[in-house]
Order: sequence, then structure tokens, then C-alpha cells
Amino acid sequence: MKIKVGVNGYGTIGKRVAWAVMKQPDMELVGVVKRKPNWEVLSAVKKGIPVYTLEESVRDFERRGIDIEGTLDELLSKVDVIVDSTPGGVGKTYKEVYRKAEVKAIFQGGEKSDIAEVSFNSFVNYREALRKQFVRVVSCNTTGLVRIIHSLSEAGTIRKIRGVIVRRGADPKEIKKGPIDALILNPAKPPSHHTIDVKKVMGELDIITYAVVAPTTLAHLHYLLVEFKEPKNREEILKHISNNSRVVIVNGDLLKSTVEVRELAKDMGRPNGDVYENVIWEDSIWVNNKEVMLAYAVHQEAIVVPENIDAIRAVTGVIEDPQESIKITNNTLGIKGWI
Ligand code: NAD
Repeated sequence: MKIKVGVNGYGTIGKRVAWAVMKQPDMELVGVVKRKPNWEVLSAVKKGIPVYTLEESVRDFERRGIDIEGTLDELLSKVDVIVDSTPGGVGKTYKEVYRKAEVKAIFQGGEKSDIAEVSFNSFVNYREALRKQFVRVVSCNTTGLVRIIHSLSEAGTIRKIRGVIVRRGADPKEIKKGPIDALILNPAKPPSHHTIDVKKVMGELDIITYAVVAPTTLAHLHYLLVEFKEPKNREEILKHISNNSRVVIVNGDLLKSTVEVRELAKDMGRPNGDVYENVIWEDSIWVNNKEVMLAYAVHQEAIVVPENIDAIRAVTGVIEDPQESIKITNNTLGIKGWI
């Protein structure tokens, strides 16, 4: 029996998760909920995905001549899991609706951590999320941080982590957002919220992150300084990072920017030029005794998609072994195979 999945909020994250669900051999996409009959619904219609809406929006869809399958409540009566990908802060208004419908829900990083029993990352705490009703997949930057810190922690005990996160100002579709010409300290006083979120997933760590918002839409860029208890060499660091099945390592002579990384992803046939992996510049890896520094890109629109897919399996409990789920997700999304 396939896991029946619905997606509430068919925007940047929702449409990607819906597409990824359709690729899974053990899942069925029952439908997506679109609040407004705007341009974003057209791709669902074209792909034959059943479109649901909110009770109060039914007439708007009728006026536009867009067929709908039913309302959110009707979708909830048909699914095992709903992936809530409504805008940050909106998900919490649905928690009781999901509870009443006895449906498991995956929330996104824009919600506060107390919305769910587990703040999730596939590599760190998949088993904690087994059969839970509410799980939250942490934000794009936090997912990127957690993957790297987890990989490095396999190389030895980490004493402290210091990071600078250069955040994209907006997603490409967000025509009203900025900045167009500024760097905004986010906030000036550390830590940025990512520090707190990393600890929600990984437990107590000596970590401080700064963040700055930059006028770019394609990806975030992180610089991390990690200090180990024992001296490390470059080879062991490289080995542990490349062991992570959602990290790719690129050459800085070949790819010098986030633009080239995204463009290459498009050239290689990735849908929307999506990059699910952390992209680490090999040349940026600097190892000096106990200190390691490195730089990597995070494609904000895509990095949380595989984690959402694994979270769906975890809450249903159909697959208990994280590596088994990660393998299926990676294979179906072509992770690491494109570069
Ligand atoms: P989005 O604005 O692109 O999509 C949200 C969708 O939800 C839109 O289609 C909107 O019309 C719809 N919506 C709005 N109110 C609704 C309601 N009351 N009921 C149902 N649908 C409603 O947002 P997004 O970027 O996909 O973000 C979704 C979540 O994912 C947020 O929590 C965000 O923080 C998180 N997230 C976003 C990114 C990113 O870079 N975009 C990355 C990681 C996590």
C-alpha cells in the first residue's frame, strides 16, 4: 500500500515536494491545496495533479474556470500525511485542523519549533520522528548547516563552530522583495536564528552564526570555521564530507559562483535547476591543526525537498532505517548523479 500524501500550500516548496512525492515508488500524491487561482496553480493543472482549495476560495477558482477536486477538508479525509508548505507562521493555524482530521503533518522551517514534536533532519534524527504526528523540517540554511556539521562530527569531536551565512534576499519569483542594493545584517547582534535551530536538531553545541542578507536570488553561501578537539588532516575531512550522500564537492577553478552551480544543474536536466545537495568548494577547505574552514552553497528552494520526503516515511513508520529511506529518495531525485 502506498502512502497517501497531500500538500497544503503549492508555492516554492510545495510544488517541489509534490513533484518529488510523485517520483516515489511508495507514495501517491492525492492532491495539492492552492489558496489562490494564480499562475502557480497552472503547473498543477497541466500535470494533472488534483487541485483542492479552501472553502472560501472555491468561487474564485470557479470564476477563473479552474476545476477543483474539493476542499482542504476533503483532501484531509483521503490522506495519511499532509505536507504543510504554507507561508511561515500560517502552518500553525492548521495544526488543530490536521489533528482533528487525524492526519500526520510535516511542517516547514518557517514555523516555530514548538509546532512539532521533532525538528527533523534525515541524517541526525530520523528515528526520533518515527510514527510522530507532527514533524518540522528545519529551514534551508539550517538543513545545510546540519548536514555539514553532522558529516564533520563523524571525523572527530567538535569543540566549536563559527559561521557566516550570506542569505539570498528573495526567491526568484518574489518580485516585491529585496534588498536590491544593500547588505542587511540579519540581525547585527549574533547569533542568527540558525544557531538555535541547529541545536534543536543536534542538541547542545558550541555554535555561533552570523547572517547577512544579500541582493541575490539563486542560493545562500555559508562560511564555516569548525574547531576539533584533536588535530585533523585534509584527507580525512574530505573523506567524511564526501561520504554524505547529499553533499557534492566542486572545483573552484571550474565553478566560481552560485550562478554557475545553478546553471550547470539546469544544463544537466535538473527540474528548475534544483540543487538538493550542499555544494562545497573543494578549494575552500582549509585545515590547520584542529581548525577546519570551508565554504558551500545552499539552494534554498530545493535543499529541504529530500528531507520532506524522508520525513513522510518516518512519520508513517513504513521504513524505520534512515539510510533505506535516504537511498530511495536520493535515487528517485537523481541526487549526486548529475555532477
Ligand atoms: P510560498 O509563498 O512560495 O508558498 C506558499 C503557498 O501557500 C502559496 O501558494 C500561497 O498562496 C499558499 N497559501 C498562503 N496562505 C495559505 C493558507 N492560509 N492556506 C493554504 N495555502 C496558503 O512559500 P514557500 O517559500 O514555499 O515557503 C513555505 C514554507 O517553507 C515556509 O515555512 C518557509 O519558511 C519554508 N521554506 C522556504 C524556503 C524558500 O527558500 N522558499 C526554503 C526552506 C523552507
